[in-house]
Amino acid sequence: MTAYTILNPATEQPVTTVPGTSAAETDAAIARAEVAQRSWRAVAPGDRASLLRAFAAKVDAHGEELAQLEVANSGHPVGAARWEAGQIRDVIQYYAAAPERLTGRQIPVAGGVDVTFAEPLGVVGLIVPWNFPMPILSWGMAPALAAGNAVIAKPAEMTPLTAIRIGELALEAGLPEGVLQVLPGKGSVVGQRLVDHPAVRKIVFTGSTEVGQQIMAGCAKHVKRLTLELGGKSANIVFADSDLEQAAATAPYAVFDNAGQDCCARSRILVQAAVLDRFMELLEPAVKDVKVGDPALAQTEMGPLISAGHRASVARYVPDNAPVAFRGSAPDGPGYWFPPTVLAPVGFDAPAYTDEVFGPVVTVTPFEDEAEAIRIANDTPYGLSGSIWTGNVGRAIRVARAVEAGNLSVNSHSSVRYWTPFGGFKQSGLGRELGPDALDAFTETKNVFISTQA
Ligand code: NAD
Repeated sequence: MTAYTILNPATEQPVTTVPGTSAAETDAAIARAEVAQRSWRAVAPGDRASLLRAFAAKVDAHGEELAQLEVANSGHPVGAARWEAGQIRDVIQYYAAAPERLTGRQIPVAGGVDVTFAEPLGVVGLIVPWNFPMPILSWGMAPALAAGNAVIAKPAEMTPLTAIRIGELALEAGLPEGVLQVLPGKGSVVGQRLVDHPAVRKIVFTGSTEVGQQIMAGCAKHVKRLTLELGGKSANIVFADSDLEQAAATAPYAVFDNAGQDCCARSRILVQAAVLDRFMELLEPAVKDVKVGDPALAQTEMGPLISAGHRASVARYVPDNAPVAFRGSAPDGPGYWFPPTVLAPVGFDAPAYTDEVFGPVVTVTPFEDEAEAIRIANDTPYGLSGSIWTGNVGRAIRVARAVEAGNLSVNSHSSVRYWTPFGGFKQSGLGRELGPDALDAFTETKNVFISTQA
Protein backbone atom coordinates (compact mmCIF):
# COMPACT_ATOMS: atom_id res chain seq x y z
CA MET A 1 0.00 0.00 0.00
CA THR A 2 1.79 3.17 -1.19
CA ALA A 3 0.32 6.42 0.09
CA TYR A 4 0.11 9.34 -2.31
CA THR A 5 -0.49 13.08 -1.90
CA ILE A 6 -3.66 14.92 -2.88
CA LEU A 7 -3.14 18.51 -4.08
CA ASN A 8 -5.59 21.42 -3.93
CA PRO A 9 -5.83 22.52 -7.59
CA ALA A 10 -6.57 26.15 -6.63
CA THR A 11 -3.46 26.51 -4.44
CA GLU A 12 -1.18 23.60 -5.50
CA GLN A 13 -0.81 22.87 -1.75
CA PRO A 14 -1.05 19.32 -0.30
CA VAL A 15 -4.45 18.52 1.24
CA THR A 16 -3.75 15.08 2.65
CA THR A 17 -2.27 11.70 1.77
CA VAL A 18 -4.31 8.71 0.75
CA PRO A 19 -3.37 5.02 0.72
CA GLY A 20 -3.12 3.45 -2.72
CA THR A 21 -4.87 0.08 -2.68
CA SER A 22 -2.81 -2.85 -4.01
CA ALA A 23 -4.04 -5.67 -6.28
CA ALA A 24 -3.93 -8.13 -3.33
CA GLU A 25 -5.97 -5.74 -1.18
CA THR A 26 -8.45 -5.36 -4.03
CA ASP A 27 -8.83 -9.14 -4.18
CA ALA A 28 -9.44 -9.23 -0.41
CA ALA A 29 -12.10 -6.51 -0.76
CA ILE A 30 -13.80 -8.48 -3.53
CA ALA A 31 -13.86 -11.57 -1.28
CA ARG A 32 -15.46 -9.50 1.53
CA ALA A 33 -17.99 -8.07 -0.90
CA GLU A 34 -19.02 -11.54 -2.09
CA VAL A 35 -19.79 -12.60 1.48
CA ALA A 36 -21.54 -9.33 2.34
CA GLN A 37 -23.67 -9.45 -0.80
CA ARG A 38 -25.17 -12.82 0.13
CA SER A 39 -26.52 -11.30 3.35
CA TRP A 40 -27.46 -7.96 1.76
CA ARG A 41 -29.65 -9.53 -0.89
CA ALA A 42 -31.46 -11.41 1.87
CA VAL A 43 -32.28 -8.23 3.83
CA ALA A 44 -36.06 -7.70 3.57
CA PRO A 45 -36.93 -5.09 0.93
CA GLY A 46 -38.44 -2.67 3.46
CA ASP A 47 -35.36 -2.94 5.68
CA ARG A 48 -32.99 -2.40 2.75
CA ALA A 49 -35.03 0.69 1.80
CA SER A 50 -34.91 2.02 5.33
CA LEU A 51 -31.11 1.57 5.53
CA LEU A 52 -30.75 3.49 2.27
CA ARG A 53 -32.98 6.28 3.61
CA ALA A 54 -30.75 6.44 6.71
CA PHE A 55 -27.71 6.64 4.40
CA ALA A 56 -29.31 9.55 2.47
CA ALA A 57 -30.09 11.33 5.76
CA LYS A 58 -26.49 10.84 6.93
CA VAL A 59 -25.17 12.31 3.65
CA ASP A 60 -27.59 15.22 4.05
CA ALA A 61 -26.37 15.91 7.59
CA HIS A 62 -22.77 15.99 6.29
CA GLY A 63 -23.57 17.94 3.10
CA GLU A 64 -21.48 20.99 3.98
CA GLU A 65 -18.52 18.86 5.03
CA LEU A 66 -18.68 16.94 1.71
CA ALA A 67 -18.98 20.19 -0.26
CA GLN A 68 -15.93 21.70 1.47
CA LEU A 69 -13.94 18.51 0.84
CA GLU A 70 -14.77 18.80 -2.87
CA VAL A 71 -13.74 22.45 -2.96
CA ALA A 72 -10.34 21.49 -1.48
CA ASN A 73 -9.85 18.32 -3.52
CA SER A 74 -11.32 19.25 -6.92
CA GLY A 75 -11.42 23.06 -6.96
CA HIS A 76 -15.15 23.10 -7.63
CA PRO A 77 -16.82 26.42 -6.79
CA VAL A 78 -18.54 25.99 -3.44
CA GLY A 79 -22.01 26.62 -4.90
CA ALA A 80 -21.49 23.77 -7.37
CA ALA A 81 -19.99 21.52 -4.69
CA ARG A 82 -23.06 22.05 -2.47
CA TRP A 83 -25.30 21.08 -5.39
CA GLU A 84 -23.20 17.93 -5.95
CA ALA A 85 -23.45 16.92 -2.28
CA GLY A 86 -27.21 17.48 -2.55
CA GLN A 87 -27.35 15.32 -5.62
CA ILE A 88 -25.69 12.31 -3.96
CA ARG A 89 -28.28 12.58 -1.15
CA ASP A 90 -31.12 12.83 -3.68
CA VAL A 91 -29.93 9.91 -5.78
CA ILE A 92 -29.67 7.64 -2.72
CA GLN A 93 -33.10 8.86 -1.56
CA TYR A 94 -34.64 8.24 -5.00
CA TYR A 95 -33.35 4.65 -5.23
CA ALA A 96 -34.22 4.01 -1.57
CA ALA A 97 -37.76 3.72 -2.91
CA ALA A 98 -36.74 0.87 -5.23
CA PRO A 99 -36.32 -2.27 -3.09
CA GLU A 100 -40.05 -2.64 -2.41
CA ARG A 101 -40.89 -1.87 -6.06
CA LEU A 102 -38.49 -4.35 -7.66
CA THR A 103 -41.34 -6.38 -9.07
CA GLY A 104 -41.27 -9.08 -11.73
CA ARG A 105 -44.09 -10.08 -14.06
CA GLN A 106 -46.61 -12.89 -14.29
CA ILE A 107 -46.91 -14.06 -17.88
CA PRO A 108 -49.83 -16.25 -19.06
CA VAL A 109 -48.74 -19.79 -20.05
CA ALA A 110 -50.47 -23.15 -20.45
CA GLY A 111 -50.14 -25.75 -17.67
CA GLY A 112 -48.79 -23.53 -14.96
CA VAL A 113 -47.70 -20.14 -13.75
CA ASP A 114 -44.83 -18.17 -15.22
CA VAL A 115 -43.17 -15.44 -13.18
CA THR A 116 -40.05 -13.33 -13.53
CA PHE A 117 -37.68 -12.15 -10.80
CA ALA A 118 -35.19 -9.26 -10.88
CA GLU A 119 -32.14 -10.90 -9.28
CA PRO A 120 -29.11 -8.88 -8.12
CA LEU A 121 -25.91 -9.43 -10.08
CA GLY A 122 -23.56 -9.90 -7.11
CA VAL A 123 -20.49 -7.67 -6.73
CA VAL A 124 -20.51 -4.50 -8.86
CA GLY A 125 -17.35 -2.46 -9.56
CA LEU A 126 -17.69 1.29 -10.08
CA ILE A 127 -14.79 3.11 -11.72
CA VAL A 128 -15.26 6.85 -11.30
CA PRO A 129 -13.52 9.82 -13.03
CA TRP A 130 -12.22 12.97 -11.37
CA ASN A 131 -14.52 15.55 -12.91
CA PHE A 132 -17.69 14.96 -10.82
CA PRO A 133 -16.57 12.64 -8.01
CA MET A 134 -19.80 12.74 -5.97
CA PRO A 135 -22.61 12.66 -8.55
CA ILE A 136 -21.01 9.99 -10.73
CA LEU A 137 -20.30 7.75 -7.74
CA SER A 138 -23.94 7.99 -6.69
CA TRP A 139 -25.41 7.18 -10.13
CA GLY A 140 -23.99 3.65 -10.00
CA MET A 141 -23.83 3.13 -6.24
CA ALA A 142 -27.43 3.89 -5.28
CA PRO A 143 -29.35 1.70 -7.77
CA ALA A 144 -26.78 -1.11 -7.43
CA LEU A 145 -27.24 -1.20 -3.64
CA ALA A 146 -31.02 -0.88 -3.90
CA ALA A 147 -31.12 -3.93 -6.17
CA GLY A 148 -29.24 -6.03 -3.60
CA ASN A 149 -25.70 -5.88 -4.98
CA ALA A 150 -22.47 -5.21 -3.08
CA VAL A 151 -20.50 -2.28 -4.47
CA ILE A 152 -16.77 -1.64 -4.72
CA ALA A 153 -16.07 1.94 -5.82
CA LYS A 154 -12.74 3.08 -7.17
CA PRO A 155 -12.56 6.88 -7.23
CA ALA A 156 -10.14 8.64 -9.57
CA GLU A 157 -6.57 8.86 -8.23
CA MET A 158 -6.70 12.66 -7.90
CA THR A 159 -10.17 13.02 -6.30
CA PRO A 160 -10.85 10.26 -3.76
CA LEU A 161 -11.71 12.33 -0.67
CA THR A 162 -15.49 12.63 -0.93
CA ALA A 163 -15.87 8.98 -1.96
CA ILE A 164 -13.81 7.84 1.05
CA ARG A 165 -16.00 9.95 3.37
CA ILE A 166 -19.20 8.64 1.76
CA GLY A 167 -18.00 5.07 2.41
CA GLU A 168 -17.57 5.98 6.11
CA LEU A 169 -21.01 7.64 6.24
CA ALA A 170 -22.60 4.49 4.81
CA LEU A 171 -21.21 2.47 7.73
CA GLU A 172 -22.31 5.12 10.24
CA ALA A 173 -25.81 4.95 8.72
CA GLY A 174 -25.93 1.21 9.41
CA LEU A 175 -25.10 -0.37 6.04
CA PRO A 176 -23.44 -3.71 6.82
CA GLU A 177 -19.63 -3.99 6.50
CA GLY A 178 -18.54 -4.99 3.01
CA VAL A 179 -21.71 -3.88 1.23
CA LEU A 180 -20.09 -0.63 0.07
CA GLN A 181 -16.29 -0.42 -0.07
CA VAL A 182 -14.27 2.49 -1.44
CA LEU A 183 -10.79 1.62 -2.70
CA PRO A 184 -8.64 4.61 -3.65
CA GLY A 185 -5.75 3.86 -5.96
CA LYS A 186 -4.56 3.53 -9.50
CA GLY A 187 -6.77 2.64 -12.44
CA SER A 188 -4.09 0.28 -13.72
CA VAL A 189 -4.10 -1.60 -10.38
CA VAL A 190 -7.49 -1.39 -8.61
CA GLY A 191 -9.61 -0.62 -11.70
CA GLN A 192 -7.87 -3.30 -13.74
CA ARG A 193 -8.37 -5.89 -10.98
CA LEU A 194 -12.10 -5.11 -10.80
CA VAL A 195 -12.30 -5.66 -14.56
CA ASP A 196 -10.24 -8.88 -14.50
CA HIS A 197 -11.65 -10.55 -11.37
CA PRO A 198 -14.35 -13.11 -12.27
CA ALA A 199 -16.32 -12.50 -9.02
CA VAL A 200 -17.02 -8.90 -10.05
CA ARG A 201 -20.11 -9.38 -12.18
CA LYS A 202 -20.53 -5.87 -13.54
CA ILE A 203 -18.43 -2.78 -14.21
CA VAL A 204 -19.83 0.73 -14.37
CA PHE A 205 -17.12 2.85 -15.93
CA THR A 206 -17.22 6.61 -16.44
CA GLY A 207 -14.19 8.15 -18.03
CA SER A 208 -12.40 8.60 -21.32
CA THR A 209 -13.45 6.74 -24.44
CA GLU A 210 -9.90 5.36 -24.77
CA VAL A 211 -9.88 3.68 -21.33
CA GLY A 212 -13.53 2.65 -21.84
CA GLN A 213 -12.53 0.68 -24.92
CA GLN A 214 -9.83 -1.18 -22.94
CA ILE A 215 -12.32 -1.94 -20.19
CA MET A 216 -14.88 -3.24 -22.68
CA ALA A 217 -12.23 -5.60 -24.10
CA GLY A 218 -11.34 -6.75 -20.54
CA CYS A 219 -14.97 -7.39 -19.65
CA ALA A 220 -15.43 -9.46 -22.81
CA LYS A 221 -13.23 -12.22 -21.32
CA HIS A 222 -15.87 -12.91 -18.67
CA VAL A 223 -18.88 -11.64 -20.66
CA LYS A 224 -19.04 -9.19 -17.76
CA ARG A 225 -21.97 -6.77 -17.68
CA LEU A 226 -20.88 -3.24 -18.48
CA THR A 227 -22.20 0.31 -18.45
CA LEU A 228 -19.97 2.91 -20.10
CA GLU A 229 -20.28 6.69 -19.77
CA LEU A 230 -17.56 8.17 -21.97
CA GLY A 231 -16.52 11.39 -23.65
CA GLY A 232 -18.47 14.02 -25.53
CA LYS A 233 -18.16 16.84 -28.06
CA SER A 234 -21.64 18.24 -27.90
CA ALA A 235 -23.20 20.92 -30.08
CA ASN A 236 -25.09 24.00 -28.95
CA ILE A 237 -27.16 24.82 -32.06
CA VAL A 238 -28.43 28.40 -32.25
CA PHE A 239 -31.01 29.18 -34.96
CA ALA A 240 -31.72 32.71 -36.19
CA ASP A 241 -35.32 32.44 -34.92
CA SER A 242 -34.23 31.89 -31.30
CA ASP A 243 -34.06 34.27 -28.36
CA LEU A 244 -30.50 35.26 -29.28
CA GLU A 245 -29.87 37.25 -26.09
CA GLN A 246 -30.77 34.27 -23.94
CA ALA A 247 -28.81 31.83 -26.13
CA ALA A 248 -25.67 34.00 -25.90
CA ALA A 249 -26.05 34.75 -22.19
CA THR A 250 -26.27 31.06 -21.29
CA ALA A 251 -23.78 29.59 -23.81
CA PRO A 252 -20.69 30.22 -21.59
CA TYR A 253 -22.20 28.26 -18.68
CA ALA A 254 -23.07 25.37 -21.01
CA VAL A 255 -19.38 24.82 -21.70
CA PHE A 256 -17.34 26.54 -18.95
CA ASP A 257 -19.23 24.96 -16.06
CA ASN A 258 -16.72 22.94 -14.01
CA ALA A 259 -14.01 24.69 -16.09
CA GLY A 260 -15.18 22.71 -19.12
CA GLN A 261 -14.33 19.41 -17.39
CA ASP A 262 -17.80 18.15 -18.11
CA CYS A 263 -18.67 15.28 -20.43
CA CYS A 264 -21.85 17.20 -21.41
CA ALA A 265 -19.99 20.45 -22.21
CA ARG A 266 -21.49 22.11 -25.28
CA SER A 267 -18.02 22.71 -26.67
CA ARG A 268 -19.10 23.36 -30.26
CA ILE A 269 -21.41 26.35 -30.71
CA LEU A 270 -23.10 26.20 -34.12
CA VAL A 271 -24.77 29.48 -35.13
CA GLN A 272 -26.98 30.20 -38.13
CA ALA A 273 -24.82 32.37 -40.42
CA ALA A 274 -27.43 35.16 -40.72
CA VAL A 275 -27.07 35.99 -36.99
CA LEU A 276 -23.42 35.03 -36.41
CA ASP A 277 -22.13 38.62 -36.03
CA ARG A 278 -24.89 39.62 -33.62
CA PHE A 279 -24.42 36.40 -31.61
CA MET A 280 -20.66 37.05 -31.27
CA GLU A 281 -21.35 40.63 -30.09
CA LEU A 282 -23.62 39.23 -27.38
CA LEU A 283 -21.34 36.31 -26.48
CA GLU A 284 -18.24 38.41 -25.82
CA PRO A 285 -19.49 40.26 -22.70
CA ALA A 286 -21.12 37.04 -21.43
CA VAL A 287 -17.77 35.21 -21.61
CA LYS A 288 -15.88 38.10 -20.03
CA ASP A 289 -18.43 38.18 -17.18
CA VAL A 290 -17.78 34.58 -16.09
CA LYS A 291 -16.41 34.88 -12.56
CA VAL A 292 -13.23 32.79 -12.43
CA GLY A 293 -11.38 32.56 -9.12
CA ASP A 294 -11.17 31.22 -5.59
CA PRO A 295 -13.59 28.27 -5.46
CA ALA A 296 -14.23 28.86 -1.75
CA LEU A 297 -16.07 32.14 -2.53
CA ALA A 298 -19.83 31.93 -3.05
CA GLN A 299 -19.81 34.23 -6.10
CA THR A 300 -17.21 32.18 -8.02
CA GLU A 301 -18.59 30.51 -11.15
CA MET A 302 -15.47 28.77 -12.48
CA GLY A 303 -12.51 27.29 -10.61
CA PRO A 304 -9.17 25.88 -11.76
CA LEU A 305 -8.44 22.80 -13.85
CA ILE A 306 -7.74 19.62 -11.92
CA SER A 307 -3.94 19.40 -12.36
CA ALA A 308 -0.85 20.89 -13.96
CA GLY A 309 -0.76 17.99 -16.44
CA HIS A 310 -4.35 18.55 -17.46
CA ARG A 311 -3.79 22.29 -17.87
CA ALA A 312 -0.84 21.55 -20.17
CA SER A 313 -3.06 19.25 -22.23
CA VAL A 314 -5.81 21.91 -22.53
CA ALA A 315 -3.23 24.59 -23.41
CA ARG A 316 -2.04 22.49 -26.37
CA TYR A 317 -5.42 23.22 -28.02
CA VAL A 318 -4.75 26.96 -27.84
CA PRO A 319 -1.26 27.50 -29.33
CA ASP A 320 0.09 31.01 -29.87
CA ASN A 321 -1.36 31.18 -33.40
CA ALA A 322 -4.82 29.90 -32.36
CA PRO A 323 -7.79 31.90 -33.72
CA VAL A 324 -8.83 33.35 -30.34
CA ALA A 325 -11.96 35.48 -30.84
CA PHE A 326 -12.01 36.56 -27.19
CA ARG A 327 -11.22 35.26 -23.70
CA GLY A 328 -12.38 35.72 -20.16
CA SER A 329 -10.08 36.16 -17.18
CA ALA A 330 -8.20 33.85 -14.82
CA PRO A 331 -6.17 34.52 -11.66
CA ASP A 332 -2.38 34.75 -11.74
CA GLY A 333 -0.25 32.90 -9.23
CA PRO A 334 -0.62 29.39 -7.87
CA GLY A 335 -3.42 27.15 -9.11
CA TYR A 336 -4.09 25.41 -12.41
CA TRP A 337 -5.98 28.31 -14.01
CA PHE A 338 -7.08 28.62 -17.61
CA PRO A 339 -9.29 31.46 -18.90
CA PRO A 340 -12.58 30.82 -20.73
CA THR A 341 -11.54 30.87 -24.39
CA VAL A 342 -13.61 31.24 -27.58
CA LEU A 343 -12.04 30.09 -30.86
CA ALA A 344 -13.41 31.23 -34.25
CA PRO A 345 -13.20 30.66 -37.13
CA VAL A 346 -11.99 27.07 -36.72
CA GLY A 347 -11.52 24.41 -39.44
CA PHE A 348 -13.46 21.14 -39.23
CA ASP A 349 -10.14 19.31 -38.88
CA ALA A 350 -8.69 21.50 -36.09
CA PRO A 351 -7.99 19.40 -32.95
CA ALA A 352 -9.86 21.99 -30.82
CA TYR A 353 -12.92 21.31 -32.98
CA THR A 354 -12.67 17.50 -33.22
CA ASP A 355 -11.26 16.44 -29.80
CA GLU A 356 -12.83 16.50 -26.38
CA VAL A 357 -10.66 19.29 -24.89
CA PHE A 358 -12.17 18.87 -21.39
CA GLY A 359 -11.29 22.46 -20.54
CA PRO A 360 -12.80 25.95 -20.93
CA VAL A 361 -12.36 26.15 -24.70
CA VAL A 362 -15.26 26.49 -27.15
CA THR A 363 -15.39 26.82 -30.93
CA VAL A 364 -18.01 28.80 -32.89
CA THR A 365 -19.00 27.56 -36.37
CA PRO A 366 -21.61 29.03 -38.73
CA PHE A 367 -24.22 26.96 -40.61
CA GLU A 368 -26.69 27.91 -43.35
CA ASP A 369 -29.84 25.87 -42.69
CA GLU A 370 -31.41 23.15 -40.54
CA ALA A 371 -30.05 20.27 -42.64
CA GLU A 372 -26.51 21.60 -42.40
CA ALA A 373 -26.82 22.16 -38.65
CA ILE A 374 -27.86 18.53 -38.14
CA ARG A 375 -25.10 17.24 -40.41
CA ILE A 376 -22.40 19.22 -38.58
CA ALA A 377 -23.78 18.35 -35.13
CA ASN A 378 -23.66 14.63 -35.98
CA ASP A 379 -20.24 14.70 -37.63
CA THR A 380 -18.42 13.38 -34.55
CA PRO A 381 -17.86 9.93 -33.05
CA TYR A 382 -19.47 11.20 -29.83
CA GLY A 383 -23.16 11.57 -28.99
CA LEU A 384 -23.73 12.54 -25.37
CA SER A 385 -25.69 15.77 -25.12
CA GLY A 386 -26.55 19.01 -26.89
CA SER A 387 -28.80 22.05 -26.97
CA ILE A 388 -31.13 23.51 -29.58
CA TRP A 389 -32.18 27.16 -29.53
CA THR A 390 -35.16 28.06 -31.72
CA GLY A 391 -38.54 29.75 -31.42
CA ASN A 392 -40.12 27.22 -33.79
CA VAL A 393 -41.57 24.24 -31.91
CA GLY A 394 -41.69 22.05 -35.02
CA ARG A 395 -38.01 22.69 -35.73
CA ALA A 396 -37.13 22.04 -32.07
CA ILE A 397 -38.70 18.60 -32.25
CA ARG A 398 -37.32 17.79 -35.74
CA VAL A 399 -33.78 18.70 -34.76
CA ALA A 400 -34.01 17.01 -31.36
CA ARG A 401 -35.06 13.79 -33.11
CA ALA A 402 -32.29 14.10 -35.72
CA VAL A 403 -29.31 14.84 -33.46
CA GLU A 404 -27.60 11.57 -32.49
CA ALA A 405 -27.16 12.18 -28.77
CA GLY A 406 -28.62 10.77 -25.58
CA ASN A 407 -29.48 13.99 -23.73
CA LEU A 408 -30.83 17.03 -25.51
CA SER A 409 -32.17 20.28 -24.21
CA VAL A 410 -34.36 22.81 -26.06
CA ASN A 411 -33.97 26.52 -25.23
CA SER A 412 -31.99 25.50 -22.15
CA HIS A 413 -28.87 23.56 -21.23
CA SER A 414 -30.16 21.12 -18.68
CA SER A 415 -28.21 17.89 -18.52
CA VAL A 416 -28.62 15.51 -15.63
CA ARG A 417 -31.76 15.03 -13.59
CA TYR A 418 -31.49 11.94 -11.43
CA TRP A 419 -35.04 10.84 -12.27
CA THR A 420 -34.55 10.89 -16.07
CA PRO A 421 -32.31 8.54 -18.09
CA PHE A 422 -28.75 9.63 -18.89
CA GLY A 423 -26.21 8.18 -21.31
CA GLY A 424 -24.60 8.41 -24.72
CA PHE A 425 -25.07 7.43 -28.35
CA LYS A 426 -22.14 6.18 -30.45
CA GLN A 427 -18.73 6.36 -28.69
CA SER A 428 -20.14 8.36 -25.78
CA GLY A 429 -21.26 5.23 -24.03
CA LEU A 430 -23.23 2.08 -23.61
CA GLY A 431 -26.38 1.73 -21.51
CA ARG A 432 -28.21 4.31 -19.45
CA GLU A 433 -27.93 5.45 -15.86
CA LEU A 434 -30.46 7.17 -13.60
CA GLY A 435 -34.21 7.43 -14.11
CA PRO A 436 -36.84 4.83 -13.39
CA ASP A 437 -35.15 2.02 -15.38
CA ALA A 438 -31.66 2.11 -13.82
CA LEU A 439 -32.42 -0.98 -11.72
CA ASP A 440 -32.51 -3.02 -14.94
CA ALA A 441 -28.78 -2.37 -15.31
CA PHE A 442 -28.11 -3.95 -11.90
CA THR A 443 -30.34 -7.02 -12.09
CA GLU A 444 -30.73 -10.16 -14.20
CA THR A 445 -34.20 -11.22 -15.27
CA LYS A 446 -34.92 -14.76 -14.12
CA ASN A 447 -37.91 -16.60 -15.58
CA VAL A 448 -39.51 -19.38 -13.52
CA PHE A 449 -42.25 -21.74 -14.74
CA ILE A 450 -44.25 -23.57 -12.05
CA SER A 451 -46.31 -26.49 -13.27
CA THR A 452 -49.86 -26.78 -11.97
CA GLN A 453 -50.20 -30.29 -13.44
CA ALA A 454 -48.40 -32.21 -10.70
P1 NAD B 1 -9.96 8.23 -17.33
O1 NAD B 1 -10.50 7.36 -18.39
O2 NAD B 1 -8.52 8.60 -17.40
O3 NAD B 1 -10.16 7.59 -15.89
C1 NAD B 1 -11.43 7.25 -15.38
C2 NAD B 1 -11.28 6.23 -14.28
O4 NAD B 1 -10.74 5.02 -14.84
C3 NAD B 1 -10.31 6.63 -13.16
O5 NAD B 1 -10.81 6.18 -11.92
C4 NAD B 1 -9.05 5.87 -13.53
O6 NAD B 1 -8.23 5.59 -12.41
C5 NAD B 1 -9.62 4.59 -14.09
N1 NAD B 1 -8.74 3.84 -15.00
C6 NAD B 1 -7.76 4.33 -15.79
N2 NAD B 1 -7.15 3.32 -16.46
C7 NAD B 1 -7.78 2.19 -16.11
C8 NAD B 1 -7.65 0.82 -16.49
N3 NAD B 1 -6.73 0.43 -17.37
N4 NAD B 1 -8.48 -0.09 -15.95
C9 NAD B 1 -9.44 0.29 -15.08
N5 NAD B 1 -9.61 1.57 -14.67
C10 NAD B 1 -8.81 2.51 -15.19
O7 NAD B 1 -10.90 9.51 -17.33
P2 NAD B 1 -10.77 10.83 -16.47
O8 NAD B 1 -9.66 11.63 -17.08
O9 NAD B 1 -10.74 10.52 -15.01
O10 NAD B 1 -12.18 11.53 -16.77
C11 NAD B 1 -12.40 12.32 -17.86
C12 NAD B 1 -13.19 11.58 -18.93
O11 NAD B 1 -14.41 11.09 -18.38
C13 NAD B 1 -13.62 12.47 -20.07
O12 NAD B 1 -13.41 11.82 -21.29
C14 NAD B 1 -15.11 12.66 -19.84
O13 NAD B 1 -15.87 12.97 -20.96
C15 NAD B 1 -15.50 11.36 -19.25
N6 NAD B 1 -16.76 11.50 -18.53
C16 NAD B 1 -17.90 10.96 -19.05
C17 NAD B 1 -19.12 11.10 -18.39
C18 NAD B 1 -20.39 10.52 -18.94
O14 NAD B 1 -21.32 10.39 -18.16
N7 NAD B 1 -20.47 10.16 -20.19
C19 NAD B 1 -19.16 11.78 -17.19
C20 NAD B 1 -17.98 12.32 -16.69
C21 NAD B 1 -16.78 12.15 -17.36
